[in-house]
Amino acid sequence: MRAAVIRGVGQAFDVTEVEIAQPIDHEVLVDVRASGVCHSDIYVQQTGGMNFDMPILLGHEIAGVVAAVGPLVTRLKVGDHVVGAALQPCGGCRGCLQGKLWACRNPGALGRTDEQPARIHDELGSIGQLQGLGGFAEQALIHENQLVAIDKAMPFEQASIIGCAVVTGGGAIFNVAKVRPGETVAVFGCGGVGLNALQSASLAGATRIIGIDVQDSKLDLAKHFGASDVINSSDTDVVQAVRELTGGEGVDHAFVMVGVTAVADAAVNVLGFDGTVYLVGATAGGAELPLRISPADTVLLPHQQGVRGSWLGSSNFYHDIPMYVDLYRQGRYNLDDLVSKTIPLDEINEACEAVERGEVARAVITFPATDRA
Ligand SMILES: [Zn+2]
Ligand SMILES: [Zn+2]
Repeated sequence: MRAAVIRGVGQAFDVTEVEIAQPIDHEVLVDVRASGVCHSDIYVQQTGGMNFDMPILLGHEIAGVVAAVGPLVTRLKVGDHVVGAALQPCGGCRGCLQGKLWACRNPGALGRTDEQPARIHDELGSIGQLQGLGGFAEQALIHENQLVAIDKAMPFEQASIIGCAVVTGGGAIFNVAKVRPGETVAVFGCGGVGLNALQSASLAGATRIIGIDVQDSKLDLAKHFGASDVINSSDTDVVQAVRELTGGEGVDHAFVMVGVTAVADAAVNVLGFDGTVYLVGATAGGAELPLRISPADTVLLPHQQGVRGSWLGSSNFYHDIPMYVDLYRQGRYNLDDLVSKTIPLDEINEACEAVERGEVARAVITFPATDRA
C-alpha cells in the first residue's frame, strides 16, 4: 500500500510503498478514507517531540471502513465505518475502569510484542504508528479498543477530524472545564482545536467567548465558529483587552491551544475569581510556567484560581465521538467549515506547510473509495 513515512526528525514525508500485515487477535484492518493533518503530527515530524521511534507513520485523525478483523474482535465487523482515537485504552487498568481512557496506565498493551512480526514494514525494516494509528496511509492496522463505529451517513472527511481536533477542543470545554451557561471563556489560538473549543463554548451557553490569535484570517474564522469577540494579540495588549471585554472581571476559563509559555502566562493574567487556565496545546519538553502565588495584581490563591492540563479533552471517545456525529447530523455542530482543504496523499508535504502557515483550519487527506465502502 501507499504510505507517507517519516524516516527522521525534520525530514519530509516519504510517500512510498510499504507492506501492512493482516489483523491478528484484536486488530482491525481499516481502509482509510480520510485522515486529518493535526499540528501535533507536524510537531512530531519537525521536533521529534513525544519521543517516538522513527521511521513512523503519523496521522491520528482517521475515518475509514473496516476491511478485515482479527479473530478476537467483537465490537466491529467488515464494512463498518469507523473513527480512530488517539488514545490507547487497555480496558483493564484503574484509569480505564474509571472511564478515564486518557489515563490508561498500559497504552503499550495494545501494540504487538517484539516477538510478533511488525504491523507495517518495508525493505528497510519495521515502521511505527503514531499512537497506534498511522493514518497517512491507504490502510491502517489498529487495535479495536481505539476504534468507534459511526453512522454510515456521516461523511468521512468530517468524521476524521472528530478523532483529535474535535474531541480535544470540545472535550476541553465539556469534560475538563465543564463550561456552564453564562460563563466567560477566552481561547488562545484559533486553529482547528481552538475553533472547536469556541463552538463548543457557544453550544455550552457561555456568554462572552473571546478568540485570540495573531492572524486576522483565523480571527474571522473564530467569529464564524461562535466567538463573541476577537483580539489580535500581535497588536493589542491581550490582558487589558480581555479585562475590558469582561467589565474588569477577567474570564472564568482560559484555554491555551498553543504550546508557548508566554501565552500560558498571559492566560493566567486574564483569569477572574475562581478562574482556571487549561493547557491544551503540546509544549516543548522542559517548558516551565512561573506562577505567582503570593499577592500581586493577579493572585492564584485568594482568588481560587487554577492551572490544569487537558489531554485529548479528557474524552471517553466511545461516548463522545458518536455524540459529535449526532450533533453534526442534526446541524448543531459545524464540521464542514473546519475541513477547509482536501488533498491526495501525494501532496501531504504541501498540506502540512499550509497548516503550518495557518492558511487552513484543517487539511484532510482523502483516499478513493474501495468496494467495501
Ligand atoms: Zn488502561
Ligand atoms: Zn491531534
